[in-house]
Amino acid sequence: MNSIPPIFISHGSPMLMLEPGRAGPAWQALARSLPRPRAILAVSAHWTTLAPAVSAAAPPPTIHDFHGFPEALYDLDYPAPGAPELAAELAAMVPGIHVDPRRGLDHGAWSPLRAMYPAADIPVIQLSVMPREDAAAHYRLGRTLQSLAQDGVLVLASGGLTHNLGDVVWDAADGIALPHVREFRDAFVDALRRRDLQVLLDWQRQMPHARRAHPTPEHLLPLFVALGAAGDDAQPVTAFSDYQLGALALDSFVFGLPENNMPGVTADSRAQRAVQ
Ligand code: ZN
Repeated sequence: MNSIPPIFISHGSPMLMLEPGRAGPAWQALARSLPRPRAILAVSAHWTTLAPAVSAAAPPPTIHDFHGFPEALYDLDYPAPGAPELAAELAAMVPGIHVDPRRGLDHGAWSPLRAMYPAADIPVIQLSVMPREDAAAHYRLGRTLQSLAQDGVLVLASGGLTHNLGDVVWDAADGIALPHVREFRDAFVDALRRRDLQVLLDWQRQMPHARRAHPTPEHLLPLFVALGAAGDDAQPVTAFSDYQLGALALDSFVFGLPENNMPGVTADSRAQRAVQ
């Protein structure tokens, strides 16, 4: 089976499902640039637990885990098959993991997946993040998943490069960011490009405005799982950059795909265009 580079997607507001803007087509192009996975392991910021957990529902119900949005969003679903056998395979690799037979797909998983694989014909399971554990623990968890990524499973980490809903500027145009959001984003992308694990895994101390960019860490933690799953030589490539609502950096990364494979999006070209 093909090796599939792990990815991180900043999933932004659920409204991107109704108004995909620039993100939807970019996620679609990203999916087309990857080998077709046999299954998808979605590591979502919206499933937080104390100990690691994996979902094993077949089929996984669509969870509408957002409030106060237009009715049309609640009518959407993502009827992908589950993969209980993959959940069992993963459970054998991660000591102490809880297998949840009922958990469905939250919008951290199905919002990008609707754009990436609209046919919903690839089995999906989810892995939780643990906000009480640090980046290094999530990186180690990712490393245990390397063999799945090398065997046709797409590790889709879904969160946000910045995520402070208290800073959201509701009428901000796409591409406009608050200064601290841009500073955090630029510093993080720079460390990522250097693959500076010492800085990345200590991001809460080393990154400018870390606490303001992430009052709680759950939207960044999936990234460290993808980084770990990618293997030591995998170079992160920017697949998409933009800002939404002033406070949300929408960067997405592929860990290990040659840059010239990316369809029309080069590192930062979009961000530079967007912030003019
Ligand atoms: Zn989210």
